[in-house]
Amino acid sequence: MASEFERHLIQPGAKVRLADHDPSETREWTKKTARARLDEVKARLHVLHEMLHANGKHGLLVVLQGMDACGKDGVIKHVADAFNHIACYAAPFKVPTKVELAHDFLWRVHAVTPGRGQVAFFNRSHYEDVLVVRVESLVPEAVWRQRYEAINDFERLLMRNGVMVVKFYLHISSEEQRERMEDRLRTPEDHYKFRVGDFATRAKWDEYMTAYEQALRRCSTAEAPWYLIPADKKWYRNLAIAQILLDRLERLGMSWPPLEEEAQGMTAIAPLG
Ligand code: AMP
Ligand code: MG
Repeated sequence: MASEFERHLIQPGAKVRLADHDPSETREWTKKTARARLDEVKARLHVLHEMLHANGKHGLLVVLQGMDACGKDGVIKHVADAFNHIACYAAPFKVPTKVELAHDFLWRVHAVTPGRGQVAFFNRSHYEDVLVVRVESLVPEAVWRQRYEAINDFERLLMRNGVMVVKFYLHISSEEQRERMEDRLRTPEDHYKFRVGDFATRAKWDEYMTAYEQALRRCSTAEAPWYLIPADKKWYRNLAIAQILLDRLERLGMSWPPLEEEAQGMTAIAPLG
């Protein structure tokens, strides 16, 4: 049932060299064909999400990570809207508060994981604790080094509780990031997305790539895989992510829950009075 997009899966333990992956890859897809296909995929995603909600047996946690302007918000806008809001939400992870920092790094994350029947999109995640925290030396190396294992254990726990964890690294080029940041500067409605602090992060591009490479390598597991998504073309990124989520949900082999036993055979209801 796996689609062509399964090639973006990072095999557990595989060494990742981001420089070897073309961020503008689109294969045979064009904007037009990808958008048409995306609509079909989203229609099917919508149905499977209703089934997931109806059955209440599985949850789905979608982790979105990548450099600034890589498209995390865009995916939530253009893919997550296939899911019914009754049982779907997005959770953003910002600089931790004092209270959050007083706890272990997974405390604030665990609190917003989806329950069975729910879908959550994480805009950034616990991976920040081995990315920005590592690059900016916010904790000693001995502390962040232990976190890969803690993350794998945590994600395994979720999986054993019925929550599927699927992680996407949105791979953009530094040139594409520059263009998107310039667009933000020139578009008044996008000024709120612009942070001068993002320049400092951008200046450490290579260090971030190294941190990402290690996170992808250490934490792509059979239980909670990482996908490396070429993300310079927004329409390709959206299609790849939607299709991978669809493939994963199809694999659950869900069906509609049956009518309650006492109601079986009933087709009409007697009028009152
Ligand atoms: P944005 O997603 O653009 O709104 O920015 C959120 C900011 O919070 C980014 O600069 C992240 O790197 C930062 N952030 C998120 N999680 C953490 C964390 N655990 N420690 C430090 N900074 C974080
Ligand atoms: Mg930002």
